[in-house]
Amino acid sequence: MITTDTTLKLLKTHFGYRSFRPNQERIVNDIINGKDVLTIMPTGGGKSVCFQLPALALPGTAIVISPLIALMKDQVDALLTNGISAAYYNSSQEVSVQNETLKKLQKGHLKLIYVAPESLQTLAPYFSEIDVSLIAVDEAHCISSWGHDFRPAYTKLGYLKRQFPNKPIAAFTATADGATQQDILKQLNILNAKVHLSSFDRKNLYLEVRPGTDRINQITRFLKTRPEESGIIYCLSRKSTQEVTTKLNKSGFKAKAYHAGLSADKRNNIQESFINDVTPIIVATIAFGMGIDKSNVRWVIHYNLPKNIEGYYQEIGRGGRDGLPAYNILFYSYADVVQLRKFTNGATNADYQIAKLDRMQQFAEALSCRRIALLNYFGEHHTENCNNCDVCKSPPRYFDGTLLTKKVCSAVYRLKEQESTGMVIDVLRGAQNAQVLGKGYQNIKTYGLLKDMSWLDLQQYIIQMLNQGILEIRFHENGRLLLTPLANAILFDDRPVRLATPPKQVLAIKADRPKHTSDSKLFQKLRELRSAIAKEAKVPAYVVFSDATLKDMEARRPKTKSEFKEISGIGKVKAERYSRYFLSAIAAFESDKA
Ligand code: ADP
Ligand code: MG
Ligand code: ZN
Repeated sequence: MITTDTTLKLLKTHFGYRSFRPNQERIVNDIINGKDVLTIMPTGGGKSVCFQLPALALPGTAIVISPLIALMKDQVDALLTNGISAAYYNSSQEVSVQNETLKKLQKGHLKLIYVAPESLQTLAPYFSEIDVSLIAVDEAHCISSWGHDFRPAYTKLGYLKRQFPNKPIAAFTATADGATQQDILKQLNILNAKVHLSSFDRKNLYLEVRPGTDRINQITRFLKTRPEESGIIYCLSRKSTQEVTTKLNKSGFKAKAYHAGLSADKRNNIQESFINDVTPIIVATIAFGMGIDKSNVRWVIHYNLPKNIEGYYQEIGRGGRDGLPAYNILFYSYADVVQLRKFTNGATNADYQIAKLDRMQQFAEALSCRRIALLNYFGEHHTENCNNCDVCKSPPRYFDGTLLTKKVCSAVYRLKEQESTGMVIDVLRGAQNAQVLGKGYQNIKTYGLLKDMSWLDLQQYIIQMLNQGILEIRFHENGRLLLTPLANAILFDDRPVRLATPPKQVLAIKADRPKHTSDSKLFQKLRELRSAIAKEAKVPAYVVFSDATLKDMEARRPKTKSEFKEISGIGKVKAERYSRYFLSAIAAFESDKA
C-alpha cells in the first residue's frame, strides 16, 4: 500500500519538493491506485510530476506520449539530472541511439520512455515484452480537431486501453473546453476516468495593459529594469518581428526574431539559444512557444492586441512556470482592433471571431480587476480583487466628467465626424504637426482646448466614451469618430457623465524591483555557476536548478550538505552532484562580505 507519506518522501527524494502543488497529490494517488485520469491544469501548474511520481512508485516502465521532440528532450534531461532513468524515442534519432534505447527498454532499465505518437507503431511490439506501469498522454488536447494544435497521430491512441485494460491511462492538458474534454475521454477509451480540473488562475503572473503608443521606447525602458531576464515579445506580423528586433539590437539588447517564414533549422537554433539563456529576448509571431518548457521566462509583452483571450492567456502562460513572479504587458491600440477586424473579413466564422475579439477588447479596456475578467471568461467566478494587476494596483477614481466629455464631443462635431481618435486628440491638445496644420484645424474652435492633458490620458477617456455609447467608431472608414444620440443629450441637455481616472503604470514605480544589493549579487553568482555547470552537462540552465531553487538558496544560504538538501528543488541526486560547488560559492561570498 502506498501512502501519502511515501509519495511525499518520493517527491522530496527525487524532485526535491517539500509539498505538493494543488491537485497533484490527488492525481498521483489516483494513478497509483490504477485509475484513469484526465487532468486539466494551467501551464506551469506541475503536470509532469503527476505522472513521473507514479512512474517511480509503481513497478515497470511508464509510456509517455508527447507531441514534440523539444518537449521530450527537455523532460528527459530534467529526469536524468534528477538521477531517474528515462529516454525518448522518435524517428529523427540515429538508429544506433534508437537501438540503445530499445535495449534498455527490453531489460527493464527505464522508469519512463517518452515517444511521439507517430513513432508509437514502431515501439508497440516491444510493449508486450515489458512491464508497463502506466500510460501518460501529455498535451492531450492535440487529440481533438476542435483544439488548436490538432495532431492526427493522436487520434490513433485508442488501442492503448484495449491492449492495456488494467493499466492506468492519464491524460494531461492546459487547455480544453468541455467539448475537447469529451473528445479526449472518448478517443482514449477512458470514459470513466476521474477528471481533475484545476483553477486557471496563475497568481504569479502580473497583468498590465498600456496604451500602444511609443511602444519601442516603453519596451526599452522596461527592459533596462530587468537585465539578463528571459522574455518574449509577441507581434502580429512577421515584418514587425523583424523591425522590433532591429530596433532592440540597435539599443544594445540581445534579441532575435522568430516566425514561421524562417527555415526549420534557423527556428530550431533560435529556440535552442533561448532555452539555453544565450538569447534572452525573442520577438515572435504566435508561431513561437509551443514546445517550450523553459521555466525561467520572466516577462511576456504583447506588442499588438491578441485575436482572442485564449491566445492571450496561452502566450502569457509561458512566463513564470517556476512559480516566481512574471510580468506581462499588453499594448492596446485601436489601430490593432481595426487590423484584426479586417483579418476576419470573408471568414466563414467571422461573427464568431469578432465576438472573441470584442471580449479581448473589453479585457484591454477593463476598469476593474483584470484577473477577475480573465477568469470569468474561462467560466471561473472569482469576486476578490487579485491585487496583482495594474487596475488593482492603481484603482480608478470616478469623477464628474461632463465638461470633459462635452469638450471631446464638440471637437468631434467641429471635425464633421470625419476624423479618427488620433486626430481628435491632436486637435484638442493643440498639436502643431503637419496633418493638423495641413487641414487648417488650428482654426477651429476646439483647437487646444485640452492642451494640458496627456495624450494617453485623453485616449483613455475617449475609450471610456466609446464604451459608454457616447461616441461611435467606424472601423471600416479609417476609424472615424461619430456622435451618438447620447452625445447630443450631453451636449445640449446637460446630461451628466461619470468618468474614471486611467490606471497608472506600476512599472514606473521601481520599488517592486530588487535593487542591486548584496543579495542579488549572490543570486548573480549562483546563476553564473549554474550556467557553467549546464554548459558542461549540455542541458539548459533551468534543468540544473530553477530560478526558484536559486532564490531559495540565496535566502537560506546553506553551509552544510544537509542544509543544502533542505532547499526546494534539490533532491538526493542533485544534492550529491552539485552541493560542493554551490556550498563553496556561498561560503566564498560570505567571507568576501565579512
Ligand atoms: P506543466 O507541465 O503543468 O506546465 P511542469 O510540469 O513543467 O508544468 O512544472 C512547472 C514547474 O513547476 C517545473 O519547474 C516543476 O519542477 C515545478 N514544480 C512541479 N511540482 C512542484 C512542486 N510540488 N513544488 C515546487 N515546484 C514544483
Ligand atoms: Mg507540461
Ligand atoms: Zn486585479
